[in-house]
Amino acid sequence: MTDVVLKKDKEKAVNQRHPWVFSGAIDRVKGKPVNGDIVRLLNHKGDFMAFGFYNDQSRVALRLLEWDENTAVNEDWIKQKVAAAVNARANILNAGTDTCRLIFSEADYLPGLIVDKYADHLAVQILTSGIEKLMPVVIDELRRLLNPLSIFDKSDASSRQHEGLETDNVVLWGDEPPASVEVKENGIVYSINIAEGQKSGFYCDQRDNRRIVAEHAAGKKVLDCFSYTGGFTLNALRNGAASVTSVDSSALAIETLKQNISLNKLDASIHSAIQSDVNKQLRAFKDAGEKFDIIVLDPPKYAPSRSALDRAARAYKDLNRVGMLLLNSGGLLATFSCSGAMDMENFKQVLAWAALDAGKQVQFIHQFCQPEDHPVRSSFPEGEYLKGLLCRVF
Ligand code: SAH
Repeated sequence: MTDVVLKKDKEKAVNQRHPWVFSGAIDRVKGKPVNGDIVRLLNHKGDFMAFGFYNDQSRVALRLLEWDENTAVNEDWIKQKVAAAVNARANILNAGTDTCRLIFSEADYLPGLIVDKYADHLAVQILTSGIEKLMPVVIDELRRLLNPLSIFDKSDASSRQHEGLETDNVVLWGDEPPASVEVKENGIVYSINIAEGQKSGFYCDQRDNRRIVAEHAAGKKVLDCFSYTGGFTLNALRNGAASVTSVDSSALAIETLKQNISLNKLDASIHSAIQSDVNKQLRAFKDAGEKFDIIVLDPPKYAPSRSALDRAARAYKDLNRVGMLLLNSGGLLATFSCSGAMDMENFKQVLAWAALDAGKQVQFIHQFCQPEDHPVRSSFPEGEYLKGLLCRVF
């Protein structure tokens, strides 16, 4: 096994069990590891620090796996981590929910591996060369634990580029997943297109938040912005909303949302779907004097990195300001940010700023976060990305 030596002043994060070592922190590599190999990380005195995946194509040159020198990182180690993650999801899966994230990369001690369950099908993202090499072991263990009908590679191209990996969405095991896989979440049925849908097909990270928002929906006029295939919309309709309007720019998302309404036998006559840019549509509602009781704002990631934060903060502020202006007094704004670079404190400031500009008063009545199948590892705060606020707006 190759040894990689860390620079003298770069030990702190490793000792605190942060799983990333940037290429700039490496003093020298003794030998010629192949990308994806497991290497030993040593401090400048030559003492063992950790085992990790090596990749000289990535800014994160080492992804650390194990800090105990006496624990071999072998096939059994990988299987044990896969099994621990899968077994930890037992709490989420029940008669009403058969979709969740089974493995969440660094947070589940498997850097670069994401596995989502869609009923009997699995969608995986393979984002590091280390995991790519170990996929035969991962697939065997997933089959042993879950006996899925298919395992489909849904790796995100841009994340793989950082590791110098090519992208090929292929069936890894079993048959090609059908164009529509029906899954259940909190008793609601969704049609998922694993191969064509966004991300790996569904945003299961909003499971709890959809339920919480819907608890307020009875009798209310709801606007679901960035609706995708209708997560918030369907929950609100089921919980007795007076009407729901969904807005998304994706034609496929809107089409699937309509299918989902009929799959769940919900009342399509009180629903309208608008395929449009949300910013434009909100301004059109404002010009028309339209008002709502509950507005959901669940935009895509505006800040891909810390350097984009200022710009993103202005975009979040503007979106939320217009949202607030469209609410009846005492109405609810359920607003989210999935930008890891924006933390909850920042997000509250953005909302305070939006409220001032809108001339509104805002109470934060609930703080949303990511659910338990998207754990945040204490030594890896970067894994925390989803946050939201339920605001009462006067
Ligand atoms: N709320 C959804 C997930 C939202 S994901 C759920 O519960 O499942 C973000 C969505 O925003 C995607 O569906 C994407 O198509 C849409 N989107 C991105 N930019 C947009 C824009 N400017 N206007 C409208 N929709 C947009």
